Amino acid sequence: MKKHHLQRLAAVVLALTMLFSICLPLSAGKPIRAYYHVSTTEKAIALTFDDGPHPRFTDSILEILEKEKIPATFFVIGSNVEAYPDVMQRVITAGHEIGNHTYRHPIVKTVTDEEMAWEIDKTDEILRSIGYSGNGLFRPPQGKFSDTLPALLEKTNKTAILWNIDTRDWAHTPSEEIVSTIEKNVCGGDIILFHDYVSGESTTIPAIKKLIPMLKERGYQFVTVSELLSLRDS
Ligand SMILES: [Zn+2]
Repeated sequence: MKKHHLQRLAAVVLALTMLFSICLPLSAGKPIRAYYHVSTTEKAIALTFDDGPHPRFTDSILEILEKEKIPATFFVIGSNVEAYPDVMQRVITAGHEIGNHTYRHPIVKTVTDEEMAWEIDKTDEILRSIGYSGNGLFRPPQGKFSDTLPALLEKTNKTAILWNIDTRDWAHTPSEEIVSTIEKNVCGGDIILFHDYVSGESTTIPAIKKLIPMLKERGYQFVTVSELLSLRDS
């Protein structure tokens, strides 16, 4: 085969891989309840915000969500909830969904099973103390698993929620690039990863300001992760 034929074949394979990795329910066949994406015929998507609550960006994100009248899901770090209960309270009062993202944000493999169980329980306990009873959603830091995490999640009755579109806002990806990546790849059932805390400046806020009206225009509705799960095709 000539070189340019091989290059074209490689491009087609890459395009197909991207399409399927973005649109298919990658949770299929996993031994635990873990979702990267939800298989649904609805044009519904879930925006998720990790690593808050934090006074630097969470309130600005809440303002945009309020203006657009859409819900989102916040995967919170327990120690931040403890440090900024007022910010957390505003997220709860606004009606958004909260998921557990551990207490100190350790990568799962770097701690013992007992420590990880404590991270999850402690965060649930803090959330309960400020009036939020858990919905069983959990997101492991960096989306990483260990061999023993599935059993722990099973025991604590948690569903792992990952994502199929990483905006890379944590790496300060320019907002225009975030918008165009989502514009090209979005489809119903997507779970999109953003952060309401990053070190340095955030590109999340200008990105969602453009993105939400653009996706509404294209007929997408915004739902919480739990609502998205309830829209699963049977
Ligand atoms: Zn995180």
